Amino acid sequence: MGLHLIVLGPPGAGKGTQAERFARERGLPKISTGDMLREAVKAQTEIGLRAKAIMDRGDLVSDEVIIDIVKERLDRADVRKGFILDGFPRTVAQAEALDRLMEGRDPLVVIDIVVPETELVRRLTSRVVCNDCGRNAEGVDPNDIGIVACRFCGGQLKQRSDDNETVILERLMVYHRDTQPLVEYYRPRSTFRAVDGSQPPHRVAAALNAAIESARQAGGAGGSGVVR
Ligand code: AMP
Repeated sequence: MGLHLIVLGPPGAGKGTQAERFARERGLPKISTGDMLREAVKAQTEIGLRAKAIMDRGDLVSDEVIIDIVKERLDRADVRKGFILDGFPRTVAQAEALDRLMEGRDPLVVIDIVVPETELVRRLTSRVVCNDCGRNAEGVDPNDIGIVACRFCGGQLKQRSDDNETVILERLMVYHRDTQPLVEYYRPRSTFRAVDGSQPPHRVAAALNAAIESARQAGGAGGSGVVR
């Protein structure tokens, strides 16, 4: 049975970190729309050029553009055994489009990582990432940028351009307005689970693994694509 996992949660909940670890452990592709957009910005593609201003403000890129990107990605052969979606869907329209794309595939497992808002702001304002591989430099202080290199690839560290306080508050507002309704969209499904994301990362990882196993059992094998 293919594992089709969605990791939901506000900015700073640890979606990327957890999705990355889980993908590595299970040998599944992690599909992060934020990473794909940042790559497009770096490569100065047409989508990247249009997305940059929107991302810098903390707004959402249009559903149409994002759904096209994901649709194309889910057509690739490497998703046959499953995938982990990080940062998608972010609106109910995206979730509905994903349900249509999932018709005939194994059900979605949906994990919501829950973290209090004050903790999110603290994490985002102190977040340091690699400019080359994009991974989080956990435990590195922003003051150490330029002194410490990325422990995964040796690349240069930086703060994300949208991780400043004004944009963080905008992203959290957008999350509450556009993305939180998704939790209610998915909650009635037997494959939905919430995980406490305020614990240390290794505990979140354990809780996430357990939640995924229990959700998969509840979903069972089958091809309807949507479990409600
Ligand atoms: P993230 O790395 O997931 O925090 O995403 C960074 C930024 O990319 C967001 O603030 C949005 O501007 C944009 N973005 C990423 N994923 C989506 C999505 N599914 N829908 C719309 N915009 C997105």
